[in-house]
Amino acid sequence: MTAMRLLIATCLVVSASVSNASEDLLLALKGEWIQGGILRGQVVPGSEVRVNDEAIDVGPQGEIVLGLGRDEPETVLLNVRKGEQSWSKRYPVARKDYKIQRVEGVPQQTVTPSAAQRERSRKEAEKVWLARQTQRATTDYMQEFQWPVLGPISGVYGSQRFYNGEPRRPHYGVDVARPTGTKVVAPAAGLVTLAEPDLFYSGGTLIIDHGHRLTSTFLHLSKLHVAVGQAVEQGDLIGEVGASGRATGPHLDWRMNWRDRRVDPTTLVGPMPEWQE
Ligand SMILES: [Zn+2]
Repeated sequence: MTAMRLLIATCLVVSASVSNASEDLLLALKGEWIQGGILRGQVVPGSEVRVNDEAIDVGPQGEIVLGLGRDEPETVLLNVRKGEQSWSKRYPVARKDYKIQRVEGVPQQTVTPSAAQRERSRKEAEKVWLARQTQRATTDYMQEFQWPVLGPISGVYGSQRFYNGEPRRPHYGVDVARPTGTKVVAPAAGLVTLAEPDLFYSGGTLIIDHGHRLTSTFLHLSKLHVAVGQAVEQGDLIGEVGASGRATGPHLDWRMNWRDRRVDPTTLVGPMPEWQE
């Protein structure tokens, strides 16, 4: 698999610095130890891997993925075990300096919802949560991810949000501002686990499971082009940009989750490439 070879090639520094047999349990690890970061790697097949004492999934070739939360504590302990051998390392996690972002002009009902609207959104949140609990054993996440849409970035991961002057939860996605109807494609292969045309906060919403509890969520879509249970390949058309739900204008909000952590999709794709209107 080319992606795996590439991954191992870029991790020679890590591999070369280890010496004894137990340390060789970790073959490769790519990604940054920073709040919101997503790391992918490979361990000796058949190993058990723990992140802060939490057992995580390991693929048939030893593939692993792990993510760091917005407020991830200062260090993370990684442990790889196989038979009698055990290897551990405590990695420092770089702090991120989150900005405050003021968003004016969103529909006031989405800032101060009625009791009925709160009840509706509570049920919807449950459905969304369930759609992220699928436990697919695939390793689609080992692909090099691509941006689902190209355009100007209008919102970043982790920023503290004020809507119409009122403090609300941080923003967990990356926003790309493009006109309604702009095509949105799958950033990597996966399985569609949620396809809802009109949720209260997030409007047209899709979730794609990339395997081992890593999912992508796409918000505010005007149109969905896939259905629950459908497998997608990287680059497949999945929907169109819109302004549905709590939005001031058309944009794609792309989020990622790993297990119970909200992670930063931009740590997988790198800087936004040049685009054409
Ligand atoms: Zn957003």
